[in-house]
Amino acid sequence: MAEPSIKNSKILITGGAGFIGSNLAEALIKDNEIVVVDDLSMGKKENLPQGANLHFIEHSIADYDFMSTLLETWKFDYIFLLAAVASVADTIVRPAETHIINQDANLNVLETIRTNKLPVKKILFSSSAAVYGNNPELPKKETSPIDPLSPYAVDKFATERFVIDYGRLYDIPTVATRFFNVYGPKQNPKSPYSGVLSLILAAIKSGSEFHFYGDGNQTRDFVFIKDVVSALIILMCSDDAMYDVFNVATGQSNSLINVSGIFENITGEKLIATFGPMRTGDIRDSLADISKLRELGYLPKYSIEEGLSEYYQNN
Ligand code: NAD
Repeated sequence: MAEPSIKNSKILITGGAGFIGSNLAEALIKDNEIVVVDDLSMGKKENLPQGANLHFIEHSIADYDFMSTLLETWKFDYIFLLAAVASVADTIVRPAETHIINQDANLNVLETIRTNKLPVKKILFSSSAAVYGNNPELPKKETSPIDPLSPYAVDKFATERFVIDYGRLYDIPTVATRFFNVYGPKQNPKSPYSGVLSLILAAIKSGSEFHFYGDGNQTRDFVFIKDVVSALIILMCSDDAMYDVFNVATGQSNSLINVSGIFENITGEKLIATFGPMRTGDIRDSLADISKLRELGYLPKYSIEEGLSEYYQNN
């Protein structure tokens, strides 16, 4: 099946100078006009592709008047809501402040579209596998019990619901994603998600020690950024992806030990590993059921070996 594409459209990407947003902008820039709003708290301007049809605005999405004026002026076809304080730890330290960004600012976008009847083709909100919490049931389906354990996960889940219910109640086309562990080029190494992959790679390259919390056999569903970008475009284009949430992952899990072995093969270097107790609150295993997304025609193309190899080459 040919993959869908977005063309001749006005697209807003909040958080577009970050890891996922900048890779998405790169994939869409050729055929579309893109506006990126990012306060550069984590993202970098250098991540963004260059071109006359890329409009970068350094600004916070928490400035409601600014965002409302932007939406009313541009009348975007597609809106990707990716801006967030993506560090769980940071949301535990600053729950009220990060709530404004992770939830209220997104609600402001929905409310502006509702009250001004703006003709958007679709809005996509990026939620997280963190909403599932420590529930041991695997693989996680979108219908699995949720158990948000941090302000980050609470805001992600509540905003997911706002996005879906605004869609249903006010006839605004919306969809939400639950990303698992995304990795790839342009990832900020401070990311609380797949930061571990960049740390392992950095340790191998520099010959320094890498410390495993636990025995290294904890598993994650690591998904390469190019597969994530494909999933985002499919979800935007599919009429069957409406008022609903979708896991975005590969449906395969890999242990950290396995991943470090693959990096060792790619680099030809050995990882100097130390081991200690697991950290309190760390999830042992994570794996997604992606059948819902597969039904829309999504097929992850990158094996972990291919993804890590491309990551290494572009790092
Ligand atoms: P990222 O930190 O690289 O990107 C987020 C961007 O949002 C950054 O560029 C940051 O500067 C920007 N931002 C933060 N606060 C802002 C504000 N007030 N106004 C404007 N911009 C602001 O993270 P990412 O990995 O690209 O994540 C993108 C989205 O996906 C986030 O919503 C994150 O919670 C979600 N997510 C990511 C993963 C993953 O594995 N990377 C997993 C689950 C969910």
